[in-house]
Amino acid sequence: MALLLLRFGDLTLKGKNQKQFIQKVKELLLEKTAMFRLEYTFQHDRIYLTVPDSIPVESVFKQLSYVTGLHSYSVVHKCEKDLNLIATQAIPFLQEVIQTKQTPFKVESKRADKSFPLTSQEISKALSKLILREIPLLKVDMHDPVVTLEVEIRQEAAYFYVSKETGTGGFPVGIGGKGLVLLSGGIDSPVAAYLAMKKGLAIDCIHFESTPLTAIESVQKVVDLTQVLARYAPNSTIRLHVVPFEEIHSMILNHIPEAYIVTIMRRMMVRIASAMAQKHHLQALINGESLGQVASQTIESLETIYQVSQSLVLRPLITYDKNEILALARKLETYPISVRPFEDCCTIYIPKSPSIRPVGWLAQRYEEKIPYQEAIERAIQATQVLVIHANQTLDLASRGLTVKEALQ
Ligand code: ATP
Ligand code: MG
Repeated sequence: MALLLLRFGDLTLKGKNQKQFIQKVKELLLEKTAMFRLEYTFQHDRIYLTVPDSIPVESVFKQLSYVTGLHSYSVVHKCEKDLNLIATQAIPFLQEVIQTKQTPFKVESKRADKSFPLTSQEISKALSKLILREIPLLKVDMHDPVVTLEVEIRQEAAYFYVSKETGTGGFPVGIGGKGLVLLSGGIDSPVAAYLAMKKGLAIDCIHFESTPLTAIESVQKVVDLTQVLARYAPNSTIRLHVVPFEEIHSMILNHIPEAYIVTIMRRMMVRIASAMAQKHHLQALINGESLGQVASQTIESLETIYQVSQSLVLRPLITYDKNEILALARKLETYPISVRPFEDCCTIYIPKSPSIRPVGWLAQRYEEKIPYQEAIERAIQATQVLVIHANQTLDLASRGLTVKEALQ
């Protein structure tokens, strides 16, 4: 049997919000660990889980990594209330985590059992002494320790733990309202979706698909990405709105000057996404834009594209470098899906020289050449909502060449 201690994330929230935060984390936790037979002990600022021997702790850790709002978790060891015994039992765990050179270290103690004869400071001091005698590579550093031994003396026993697994931190999904993620098959937007969830937003996703102009496999990527993201969502479910974009896409390719194709394509997406957000009471659009990454993400481009938005727009990645985004994509396990080689509407037939400083009045003048209002209406009407669950794969690619065919 293993005992796990879970700590909350950003508990700087006050009053009612804090209560709600804890309640939401609990709900997510119960749902994400429902497949195990665990015992839960809820305390004000922490949660204990008892894991039976039949379940590997790593598999519980994996599920905990999908609970947004959890700050960290540790395996806690139970021991008699005897400092010599605590030191002896803690030493092997400390040895596992120390480096080959001198490692800054401290002991942090709490004395919940006030009848214990030493104060918490005295406990820490005595334990440090016992441990340093056995592991000379440790060196006490109260301010910047690399390794911390945490000890708690309680009524029934003493508890200690050495290492912490870091959780997502942030806030539990759903506490901060709802947003609509513009999800492409690329690397960035799934990462943006995750960051929005970890800041407490529940999400729907929207994808603009141009089959048969583009391959259905590019839509499959988006379905599969949504499935991975659903691990973090309440009920492990995310709604994916799939918008047929081929008509508008072709209209743009045929009638808009090259330099403005990308700008106007993005304006059409934003118009539709913004209308969808209003229709479904989603409070913000969320996308994977990062300043300066490509021509459509200069400040002038963003300004011109989002002039047509009626919604608040959040860009979690706006200041991220590509390597930071890649590291997150790998951690989330979205990366291998994102790099599957299928082009979507934003990468196919891309003009060689898109404008990096498009202006609104010119975009508008070009748009007047195409009957886009009606086309947008039709696209919204024909949008299909897929409910994607983390444990259910939806295979579109083998069922047809277009989304319409595949969903028939
Ligand atoms: P990503 O890796 O997220 O595709 P990117 O760097 O390739 O980002 P763009 O292709 O310019 O950037 O797209 C910018 C953002 O616009 C994306 O992050 C995404 O939020 C949104 N987007 C682009 N194409 C689509 C699409 N077909 N459907 C939905 N959203 C899209
Ligand atoms: Mg892209």
